[in-house]
Amino acid sequence: MTLATPQQKIVRVPHLLNAIDDSLATWLKEHGQGAYRATQIRHWLFVRRASDFQEMTELGQTLRNELAAEFSLWTTSIVRHTQADDGTEKLLLALTDGGQIECVLLRDEVRRTICISTQVGCGMGCVFCASGLDGLERNLTTGEIVEQMLRLLRLLGPDERLSHVVVMGMGEPLANLDNLLPALDEASREDGLGISARRITISTVGLPKPMRRLADAGARYRLAVSLHAPNEALRREIVPVGEKISLAEILAEADHYFDLSGRQLTFEYVLLAGINDSPEHAHELARLLGRRTALGNVIPFNPVSGLPYRTPSTSARQTFRHVLEDHGLAVRFRHKKGDAIDAACGQLRRRTLQQISSLKA
Ligand code: SAH
Repeated sequence: MTLATPQQKIVRVPHLLNAIDDSLATWLKEHGQGAYRATQIRHWLFVRRASDFQEMTELGQTLRNELAAEFSLWTTSIVRHTQADDGTEKLLLALTDGGQIECVLLRDEVRRTICISTQVGCGMGCVFCASGLDGLERNLTTGEIVEQMLRLLRLLGPDERLSHVVVMGMGEPLANLDNLLPALDEASREDGLGISARRITISTVGLPKPMRRLADAGARYRLAVSLHAPNEALRREIVPVGEKISLAEILAEADHYFDLSGRQLTFEYVLLAGINDSPEHAHELARLLGRRTALGNVIPFNPVSGLPYRTPSTSARQTFRHVLEDHGLAVRFRHKKGDAIDAACGQLRRRTLQQISSLKA
């Protein structure tokens, strides 16, 4: 007999969102149902935001019951749901094996952007990031990635539409491409979420081989590369996984991607006071990026409890920005949306886990 602990609900049935087409096509055929049923189910999931098979009224009661017995629609449960005054909402989800992940909905004028995770924890070890502090637990499945999108979709009001997806949550997306790509297919398909590929951004720490694979797969999505340092020595300190990967290699792959996609590249740079935020660093960064068609996305460090780093002062931030702009670089300074609800990568999960362990202590 298998016993399930409260954290470890055992899922006996396949997760429908893992391979919607494959699971449904075979199953529907075996049950004497037409292929149009799959279209109806997709419509209920992605357009009508159904939360249960029972809501899919066109299917008929027997079929709904059979589907519910055969497939699970949701495998996660919502541990926390936080909302900020600026409209940002964040979900902390528990997975069937007890792991936790975060995903976020950001509202900005008419934009509705969702930020999703690809791994439980992260193995990249960027020194300032909460997600990687305890290392990598595991990759998320395709279904778990799609599920985040559907859960966030269901937070929207009836007049709101999802417009953008950013793969900037917990984990390194390019270390889980096998499961991410089918999930992004669901995001971009007309009979999925219908979000055009140019409104989907994948953020990577800069892994050359999978960057090439993403290019070979059609370079459909926007690419953002997390640099955080303008020279090799400093980058090795801030991004330990980059020890064996040179900035030149990363930039070469990014350029290749740009050549194929024609989409403006983004380079992310988290500003850490006294570490990478001097005017000299800004000059060096501008020289490194040179004449690329690129956007510099400069992100002031969002404090993580237990880490020694500080957010630079407003004047240091402004100086950094002006230097980059004087060099002709397009710059966006990410305003710190969602700070109040720990929207930076991995922070809500960390705080919750810390609270749980202090309760246990
Ligand atoms: N692994 C991928 C995607 C996840 S991190 C990557 O490295 O790009 C997404 C972005 O959030 C990265 O640019 C990362 O550097 C940034 N980030 C992580 N922790 C942060 C913090 N505490 N403050 C500000 N930005 C942070």
